[in-house]
Amino acid sequence: MQRGSVGYMFEFPGDPTTPGIASLPSLPESKRISPDKSAQMPKIPITPLSYHDAWPILQHLAGPDSPREWQGALPFTYHVGPGPVRVKMHLKQDYQFRTLWDVIGRVRGSDSPGEWVIAGNHRDAWVYGAVDPNSGTAAMLEAAHGIGELLKSGWKPKRTMIFASWDGEEEGLMGSTEWAEQYESELANAPAYFNMDVAVSGPKFGASAVPSLKQFIRDVTKAVPSPKGGTVYEAWQKGDQPGAPSTQSPTEAIGDGRRMPAAPAKGDVPVGDLGSGSDYSVFQQHLGVPSSDMSSSGPYGVYHSVFDNFAWFKKFGDPDFTYEQEMARVFGLEALRMADADVLPYDYEEYGKEVAAYLDAAGKRAENKFGNHALDFNAVTLAAKHFQDAGTKILAKQKNPPRALARLNQALRSAERALLVPEGLPHRPWFRHAIYAPGEYTGYAAVVIPGVNEALDKGDAERARQQLAVLAAALERAAKVLESYR
Ligand SMILES: [Zn+2]
Repeated sequence: MQRGSVGYMFEFPGDPTTPGIASLPSLPESKRISPDKSAQMPKIPITPLSYHDAWPILQHLAGPDSPREWQGALPFTYHVGPGPVRVKMHLKQDYQFRTLWDVIGRVRGSDSPGEWVIAGNHRDAWVYGAVDPNSGTAAMLEAAHGIGELLKSGWKPKRTMIFASWDGEEEGLMGSTEWAEQYESELANAPAYFNMDVAVSGPKFGASAVPSLKQFIRDVTKAVPSPKGGTVYEAWQKGDQPGAPSTQSPTEAIGDGRRMPAAPAKGDVPVGDLGSGSDYSVFQQHLGVPSSDMSSSGPYGVYHSVFDNFAWFKKFGDPDFTYEQEMARVFGLEALRMADADVLPYDYEEYGKEVAAYLDAAGKRAENKFGNHALDFNAVTLAAKHFQDAGTKILAKQKNPPRALARLNQALRSAERALLVPEGLPHRPWFRHAIYAPGEYTGYAAVVIPGVNEALDKGDAERARQQLAVLAAALERAAKVLESYR
């Protein structure tokens, strides 16, 4: 059977009793909300089943045919019930508070110790977790080993590097969320969070990131050899299928399969958009720390099951461990280049272009829903143009930087935070990013410009109008931050 959390992570991830605040042992009981009041807790008892156990239950349901997308691979038509058969289930729910342990390794930065470049991967697993998360952990430890060797040679990073081994990811991104909520003020200056989770389940490289980091990731992969020959970048370009990892079946994609192919920018390899389902969520969507995620994937099939074990990994996943090496190098180099960069390597021009494309698509959806000109996209389109132009201008300065870099880097770091909306998305204040959120109804896939698109989904023209204004204001703020550096 495939295990998985059924918590409503689209409401907020982390400890269900402490939205927005760190769940520390010292937190007074009065600051917690009780589990039965938590928006993250489902109200219906749920248990995962193997297909063998689900078979007779599904087979004896009558009533209307299920929607097309609910039909699975069992050899009969699925029906939605109710009845006529009855099932009696005995569920034992375990409601204990338990201690989780994040393990944090730190290399102090020599120039800017207050700027944390964070690289993380979770450590807890549903069962053995050879792929999820241990393929990521093995690669992260090897990256840390490499940084250790560099330190012995006398090298020091300019910025502080943090390697994080998160606990409690599978139950709801708990370790990462609570840690980031604890260090919220320090993370206001963090240049990036790099995630790995299901690092290696096969030979095909893919990545997801905020648009400002997409080109950076492509550049990193140009410096790492691929086990197939040439560089990771070249193998990635040759990949049979555009975009981020896509070899997971739809069922698997409900778990950590959190990537959606994005439109290719500049005709280059497409990097996906961040949805949710792994530990970058709090960094990107709650705190506005530019984030990325990556993996090398293949036919997996044992996701979150007892069969995700060493024997599977050795036989099918990565028999020679060469893709483990590849991921250790890409991951380590991401962190190293970001920590040591003179000028922070963000591309806000690509960001602006992507937002413009999201707005185009939303504009067409709005016309289909409400008719021509029912919603006014003028102000928001101008704001996106303003943001993109500011991105183009600052990119020229990044390529030709002045001697004093602090203010340039400050503007670059602050632009992502300017895209946060203090009051959050409608009905889910924990999610504060104006451009990216996990969808309320899309599982782990990303919804772009979520305020606007979810208002369109609901057919709520008034809310769409209000969210267009919120989005325009966020884009104007980010543009002004970029322009504040002259
Ligand atoms: Zn995982």
